[in-house]
Amino acid sequence: MTHPGQLLKQKRLYAGKELGQNFLSNPGTARMIVEKTGISNDTRVLEIGSGLGALTIPIARITHHVTAVEKDSRLIPILQQELDNEDLKNVELINKDVLKLDIPGIAKDKKLVVIGNLPYNISSQILFRLVEERSCIKKAFLMFQKQLAKRIIAPPGGRDYSRLSAVVQYAADISFVADIGPSSFFPRPEVDSTILQFNFFEKKELSLEQEKLLFNVIKAAFSKRRKSLKNSMTGGEFEFKKDFIIKALELAGIDAKRRAETLTVDEFKSLSLAVWETS
Ligand code: SAM
Repeated sequence: MTHPGQLLKQKRLYAGKELGQNFLSNPGTARMIVEKTGISNDTRVLEIGSGLGALTIPIARITHHVTAVEKDSRLIPILQQELDNEDLKNVELINKDVLKLDIPGIAKDKKLVVIGNLPYNISSQILFRLVEERSCIKKAFLMFQKQLAKRIIAPPGGRDYSRLSAVVQYAADISFVADIGPSSFFPRPEVDSTILQFNFFEKKELSLEQEKLLFNVIKAAFSKRRKSLKNSMTGGEFEFKKDFIIKALELAGIDAKRRAETLTVDEFKSLSLAVWETS
């Protein structure tokens, strides 16, 4: 792998902060990450934010086909050249915003393994998108800023537990893979990074409509996280009435004075089913 600093310099380019461009510059770290994913020749891989190919190249050496999506058009010809130099012909590069990508269209008839060193400014949005599309995703191995990774895996009861934690923990079994220090990147970020593995649950307990409601209930509950549920969930974007919320909380057996951050995922499910039944 050519050092990203050298590739950018040759083309007189710069790494864009607005696109979260901290490229992996340590080939050993990139290889270690790809090894941890356990992909094999017949795994269908979607890579998010391929950049200059630090992960794309070791992935393409293992699996027969990789789809790599990258928003920055400046990087596409550079990565294509790197792939040509390595004689790798099994990578489909798509120059697009991943938030607008037709993920089921890429999966076709086979579930995807998603891999990405994510742009830090839209990591949460990407994760919400993957949750939405999880019926065509088997696993994901994603790198985040360490602080965000802590929030994703945080248990209820603490300050790190958030809307994102509850939604993702509902959809996937999440495990820690590795911490990566700033010296593995160019340019060096100021903070540590963490890789998490997401194994999306096969079985959908709720219908699509019920799941949409659950996500709205979680969003409403966390909208004013310092307030008790009966106040945080009232009004706002979903225009829940106070009497209605108190009734639903009672039906779900949840004390209306509790705050969103104390509710387990199962309690959010009970609450949304109570809202469903009360409606
Ligand atoms: N995978 C490369 C690596 O590990 O060196 C690059 C990782 S860098 C942290 C994130 C990459 O995501 C950048 O190449 C950036 O241009 C790209 N990116 C940023 N926003 C994107 C978006 N909305 N859709 C697709 N790619 C995006």
